[in-house]
Amino acid sequence: MIRILIVEDEEAIANLIRMNLGKAGYQCETVFDGEGAANRILEERFDLMLLDIMLPGLSGYEVLEYAKTMDIPVIFLTAMGETAQKVKGLRMGAEDYIAKPFDIGELLARVEAVLRRCRKTQEKIRFLDIEIDPDSRVVTKGGQEAELTPKEYDLLLLFVRNRNRALYRETIYENVWGGEYSGTGRTVDLHVQRLKKKLGLEEHIAAIYKVGYRLVIPS
Ligand code: CA
Repeated sequence: MIRILIVEDEEAIANLIRMNLGKAGYQCETVFDGEGAANRILEERFDLMLLDIMLPGLSGYEVLEYAKTMDIPVIFLTAMGETAQKVKGLRMGAEDYIAKPFDIGELLARVEAVLRRCRKTQEKIRFLDIEIDPDSRVVTKGGQEAELTPKEYDLLLLFVRNRNRALYRETIYENVWGGEYSGTGRTVDLHVQRLKKKLGLEEHIAAIYKVGYRLVIPS
């Protein structure tokens, strides 16, 4: 799911954007000041940021510097008629800008265009006889498409990105399901079992006593 961070100190505008982008299928979060925005992008991955320029704390221009180091494309939200702001923002490396007040249809179109343009095409991941295409979320084993549920897919990706490292059940749960791990329930174990079976990874996903699991792939 594509994650968008909305940074706008006028809460009504921020909420309106969040509601509309949410309806369009984006996962959105709102922050109302510059410092909060900088902190959030250091903590978590976002695919796009909508960024107001005049903000309490850090200005939008300063937040843009953080976004650039984190490789997050930015669309500036500018006040109408502020040509100087638009030019400065674009010069500094924003992908686009949109003047307030804006039409939601236009906002959606710009969001889509920037996402398309900035989409970092992700490389296919290959190991053993398995191939994962992170863009299409298609997994093949021995050239045959494997039927994985979305959770099984996320679990596989987590294992592969942490190959040969022990993953705690808590870590697995929080990454794949989100939210706090209660320490009970067999959700993680059941999904790991199914994943092993579907992809013939019985020999490669090792259970680690009292910890969790590790995907073992000889390099
Ligand atoms: Ca503002």
